[in-house]
Amino acid sequence: MADIKQIGVIGAGQMGNGIAHIFAAAGYNVSLNDIDEQRIAAALGTIEKNLTRQVSKGDIDPDAATSAIARIRPAPALDDLAQCDLVIESASEKFDLKKEIFAAVTKIAKPDAIMASNTSSMSITALAAATDRPDRFIGIHFMNPVPIMRLVEVIRGIATSKETFETTKLLVERLGKTMAVSEDFPAFIVNRVLMPMINEAIYTLYEGVGSVEAIDTGLKLGANHPMGPLALADFIGLDTCLAIMQVLYEGLADSKYRPCPLLVKYVEAGWLGRKTGRGFYDYSGDAPVPTR
Ligand code: NAD
Repeated sequence: MADIKQIGVIGAGQMGNGIAHIFAAAGYNVSLNDIDEQRIAAALGTIEKNLTRQVSKGDIDPDAATSAIARIRPAPALDDLAQCDLVIESASEKFDLKKEIFAAVTKIAKPDAIMASNTSSMSITALAAATDRPDRFIGIHFMNPVPIMRLVEVIRGIATSKETFETTKLLVERLGKTMAVSEDFPAFIVNRVLMPMINEAIYTLYEGVGSVEAIDTGLKLGANHPMGPLALADFIGLDTCLAIMQVLYEGLADSKYRPCPLLVKYVEAGWLGRKTGRGFYDYSGDAPVPTR
């Protein structure tokens, strides 16, 4: 089985920083890449803050936190990932962008390196086809926030080898996470179930059935969800939610997955949720304020 020591993470956004964090905390060396260098610096700051919080809660000892942060290297150029044994892509949820990234990674990666995507919804088989190694390509779908959520969804493309799958399985165990295996269908398991619920919550708002507060309180107290669906949509990112609904709608050709026009409007406005400071809630003050 492949010996994985050096991890490359492409995309230092909300997911990429969490992925770098857990690999470094588990003893792997991590090279963190982003097209925007400021995102790498911001991600390192977030990781340090989150590790400090874990230390203060007694989840990790201070020396382990210090060594974890020291294991993460900024990698502003793709060439910096040339020595990685595993490259995980976690850039924005756009198919053409991901394909371009994998075509570029193919040129610089070690011949035996495994490549993986953290895509929430897109075909692993199609992304693998952009590389020279569909047998060593796999979907490793982490949940947000990565250091806290216990699940990792693993998706084999049509050509993924048994060895790549077994290596991934071992890796997930070493990260202390639980694996759920999904076949390579649009949005896999978790988002196939979760995202239509979020989209329906947005329709409920769009049709005036209830306010943001009523919808979120309804699902929190009425269905015992830890977060309301609109707060959760803001947390995930509305651009990502829309991209997933589009993959479901087009991939399964069923009108029940039609993205809500209000979701489309919010994304057009650049109101992407927490990451831009505004979505179904306004995050500019001390506490989130519903925007409808
Ligand atoms: P994000 O918007 O926070 O971060 C995306 C990052 O990708 C940005 O920093 C951006 O600069 C970078 N990027 C864009 N083009 C790039 C390129 N060519 N090369 C390198 N970096 C590039 O998004 P996110 O929420 O971290 O999502 C990233 C991926 O993770 C998506 O595929 C998404 O579907 C998936 N995902 C998201 C969640 C979630 O809850 N947000 C959960 C699981 C999986």
